[in-house]
Amino acid sequence: MTDKYAQLVNQGLGRNVAKKLGLPQPAVLRRYEPGGPLITGPVLVQGGTVGADSLAAELLSWDLDVRRHAVPREKLGAILLVLDDVAQPEDLGKPVLSAAASLRDLAPGGRVITVSRPASDATSPAAAAARQGVDGLLRSLAKELRAGATGNGILLAPDVQATSPGALAAVRFFLSGRSAFVDGQFIRVSTAAGAAPPELEKPLKGRIAVVTGAARGIGAAIARTLHRDGATLVLVDIPAAGDQLAAVANEVRGTALQLDISRDDAGQRILEHAVQRHGRLDIMVHNAGITRDKLLANMDEARWNSVIDINIGAQLRINEALLGSEYFRASPRIVSVASTSGIAGNRGQTNYAASKSGVMGMVRATAPLLATHGGSINAVAPGFIETEMTARVPLVLREMGRRLNSLQQGGQPTDVAETIAFFASDSASGINGEVLRVCGQNLMGA
Ligand code: NAD
Repeated sequence: MTDKYAQLVNQGLGRNVAKKLGLPQPAVLRRYEPGGPLITGPVLVQGGTVGADSLAAELLSWDLDVRRHAVPREKLGAILLVLDDVAQPEDLGKPVLSAAASLRDLAPGGRVITVSRPASDATSPAAAAARQGVDGLLRSLAKELRAGATGNGILLAPDVQATSPGALAAVRFFLSGRSAFVDGQFIRVSTAAGAAPPELEKPLKGRIAVVTGAARGIGAAIARTLHRDGATLVLVDIPAAGDQLAAVANEVRGTALQLDISRDDAGQRILEHAVQRHGRLDIMVHNAGITRDKLLANMDEARWNSVIDINIGAQLRINEALLGSEYFRASPRIVSVASTSGIAGNRGQTNYAASKSGVMGMVRATAPLLATHGGSINAVAPGFIETEMTARVPLVLREMGRRLNSLQQGGQPTDVAETIAFFASDSASGINGEVLRVCGQNLMGA
């Protein structure tokens, strides 16, 4: 689906008119291109800690142009603000204000990334206050950035360092164009485990992945992205979408499995299909989902039940089948698609929001089970994404969905797909039980 307004105000006369009238001018986002640079321009690492020093050294080894001090008026690709040892709110001032002086030099599509520790692990009220302070700081700063620049944060659990594999994987993800529509968000790295972040163009090479709801929209984009990253694919959708599913499967050289995921034996059917063709299954992407919107006062049983059953019931049943199978044991990864509606709630979507909140609860509770096999489960919560699902939203609501975020535009299916590919990769294995919003810092659930 296209955002005609964004196209109009990004060219010639439209640009000038929008500027004069003070209308929103959504920037063209910097998205990932295979073979392209991770980030263009120097990366300034701010912060006086051991973590900042070692992170700067690591980024140098990635061949990035790294600065420990700002050079006046030099355009910067990114600013990393390392706050991993703040013990009281007063500790924030010096590093934050040093970084502030460089914000005007951040290039379009630039990145600000904080690296800190969660308040929940702090051992004193003052440390908790300082750590929680990073939350408000980052979310506000992200709202101040312009020209497609974004701000995101990484939270390190107690035994995780700024250069632990999962932290580096998150730094790489946030620096790259893969995170174009992720803004104002935090990723918690819970273990020091994980593979070194791959420089590889095909981080999923040799991995067998299943994607549900792959015939169109976000699911088709996930299939294309996982294929680009090297995975071998099994694509699932309902029989009525069989032709579209076959077309996507041909495009990504995968196989199609026509299956309604709400069937009781869906997990078994998926396993049989994957094992027969590939001998095992490594990555399960739960993307299929439906909406049946009604105010709760007008809600009928069929609407309520179908949404709960397809959006969360099916995921639970399929996971149970996979987790009980010896063919889903090699660093297994599950990635589920939730929604910002499940975080903030949405009028007319009690059933949908309950199902998507349910996905997030399920992901957190299932994380320890995956960890026992060296695996992980995470969720992506998209905000407004340009698909056939959102094309059906009435015009005014649609425009609100698009513009009421820090990037002033809807995301593309590929933005959700990039985050899913990141969670599916071994480099992200230190990240488990997380929910990451891909919403441009939408006001809904912000
Ligand atoms: P879509 O309607 O375009 O595609 C969904 C796909 O799932 C379709 O191909 C459909 O046939 C398939 N599907 C539905 N029920 C199924 C079943 N029982 N068995 C197998 N396949 C089934 O939707 P989309 O916009 O691409 O959304 C994909 C996911 O992202 C959904 O889970 C949705 O809730 C979520 N999401 C979308 C947005 C958005 O803005 N588009 C926002 C938040 C979350």
